[in-house]
Amino acid sequence: MSTLKAVRGTRDLLPPETELWNHVEATARRVFGHYNFGEIRTPLFEDTSLFARGVGEETDIVSKEMYTWEDRARAQSEKAQSLTLRPENTAGVVRAYIEHKLGDTGLLQKLFYIGPQFRRERPQKGRYRQFWQIGAEVIGPISAGSESPLRDAEVLEMLATFLNELGIEGWTLEINSVGSATDRPRYIAALREALAPVKHLMCEDNQRRAETNPLRVLDSKDPNDQELINNLPKIADYLDEESKAHFEQVLAALDACGVPYRVNPRLVRGLDYYTRTTFEFTHGGLGAQNALLGGGRYDGLSENIGGPKAPGIGFAMGEDRLILTLQAERQQTATLADYYIAPLSIAQNPAALELARELRRKGLRIEIGDGSFRLKKSFELANKLAKKIILLGEDEASTGILTVKDFATAEQTKVARAEIV
Ligand code: ATP
Ligand code: MG
Repeated sequence: MSTLKAVRGTRDLLPPETELWNHVEATARRVFGHYNFGEIRTPLFEDTSLFARGVGEETDIVSKEMYTWEDRARAQSEKAQSLTLRPENTAGVVRAYIEHKLGDTGLLQKLFYIGPQFRRERPQKGRYRQFWQIGAEVIGPISAGSESPLRDAEVLEMLATFLNELGIEGWTLEINSVGSATDRPRYIAALREALAPVKHLMCEDNQRRAETNPLRVLDSKDPNDQELINNLPKIADYLDEESKAHFEQVLAALDACGVPYRVNPRLVRGLDYYTRTTFEFTHGGLGAQNALLGGGRYDGLSENIGGPKAPGIGFAMGEDRLILTLQAERQQTATLADYYIAPLSIAQNPAALELARELRRKGLRIEIGDGSFRLKKSFELANKLAKKIILLGEDEASTGILTVKDFATAEQTKVARAEIV
């Protein structure tokens, strides 16, 4: 029989690596908590049309990366339905916002999520078919201040703080404004005009994008097309006064709190309901997959999926890529137990478990002996797994005095059982 393996593009996460994952997630929960965010957990699968409308039919995600299936009806009362494993989480959060009428509270909703996402991509370093995102959304009625540039700056400052707390250095924040729903058509028209005489010189992908979604040409990484792209019109020159002022206020707030950034006029999001601020944090250590996270404003998204007007701003971080960055910067070793308790005969097994129970209740990390009852082997194993070994033999049982060896100092001492506990 052939052996079964994890599906291509999916991975098992094992200790000690999982400790790093938990550390990253605990740090996110703590830092986001300081900004008064609450956690949201949405289903792993949704109605396919949520993503078609909430992410956009013409995106790579929807057009070629989704895991979609026809879910059969199981009873006459049920209808067959097209379902999709979530490829991202913003659409789910905004659906929940609408479904639970969170806008009726009149308050700004500040929600974060941590969980797996699914995209059928070509697997490579930093790119998987099941991957994890840590993200957040600030969304609410305009009266709650959801459009305020302060929100954008606060989210960016939170991200800078989060990365710094994790000890990730050398990140770059790139930021741009893609303007409002009225700026965009003027810019796209100018882009089409500028592309018309040069697009035949570009790669096939860009020739297609020039027709279907010219904004996407700006995203292109094709090395041969870079110079042509750099000469295309810049969106900054097409922003109306309101969008310009909004962007300037975001940047001024970032300046005030010392968050460094680089304005990148080519950073765009190709969809109509993405508005004003867009941003990306990159990290040089990641190679080709250098984006740690992406985000921006989506003032029209809620209406696009049938909800009330609810401007918002959010981001999604690739947790897998955060972990890769951290692993490159530090060596990870397994956590050692505080004590390895070695029973030296079968008769001591109950006493070993009892002692372990008491020490674990004190919050210590305890490993219990292997049951071989051989001194040499116990020491060898204990030295790999724990900081100290406790020997439990007949002597120890009768006197209540335990033999303890500290591997760091190689010191062996006699300690009363009551003292250890
Ligand atoms: P990329 O250009 O790398 O494909 P994207 O534009 O598809 O990124 P977003 O949809 O903005 O990415 O997702 C936000 C973040 O999620 C990315 O910056 C990245 O860190 C992470 N991410 C996206 N797709 C994957 C994947 N297949 N595997 C691992 N991480 C991913
Ligand atoms: Mg992608």
